[in-house]
Amino acid sequence: MSWLYSSSVRVGNGYDVHALKEGLPMWLCGVNIPSEKGFVAHSDGDVAIHALCDALLGAAALGDIGQHFPDSDPKYKGIDSKKLLAEVVSFLGDRKLNKGGRYAIENVDITIALQEPKLRPYIDRMRETLAGIMRIDKSQVSVKATTTEHLGFVGRGEGCEVWASVMLKAKGARKK
Ligand code: MG
Repeated sequence: MSWLYSSSVRVGNGYDVHALKEGLPMWLCGVNIPSEKGFVAHSDGDVAIHALCDALLGAAALGDIGQHFPDSDPKYKGIDSKKLLAEVVSFLGDRKLNKGGRYAIENVDITIALQEPKLRPYIDRMRETLAGIMRIDKSQVSVKATTTEHLGFVGRGEGCEVWASVMLKAKGARKK
């Protein structure tokens, strides 16, 4: 039997880095984090949402965030990354984009590498915020934070690195 989707579940991964600079706002997973430094970016610099968008797009084989929201486009200057995530989620439900099928998000797992500040106090709000935008339950959203023990550019406080993994379930896949 031949199906448009080779499997009913699809995995995706995303990765992003932004540089840190004093006096800029720090947004992570849609939450404003009190910090002396924030992210240098064309958008609001929410490096975690960017990695998540790439993971979602990757799982659906719909390209990447730079292709859909080019940083050369003034339309996206300073944009709230929550809006980008909402748009990516709408792509997953778009049958025209997905050969007659659509995707539901099973779960997402995010790892943020940042030397400071400590993110633990904000993790719950991050999970709630992302779950709300993706219209899934908070239990389907994991956000983890780590330092790099002062090693590398993250450890020196020069930037933040984020990895995101997602699993999608294909719905309404049709026979070829
Ligand atoms: Mg980015």
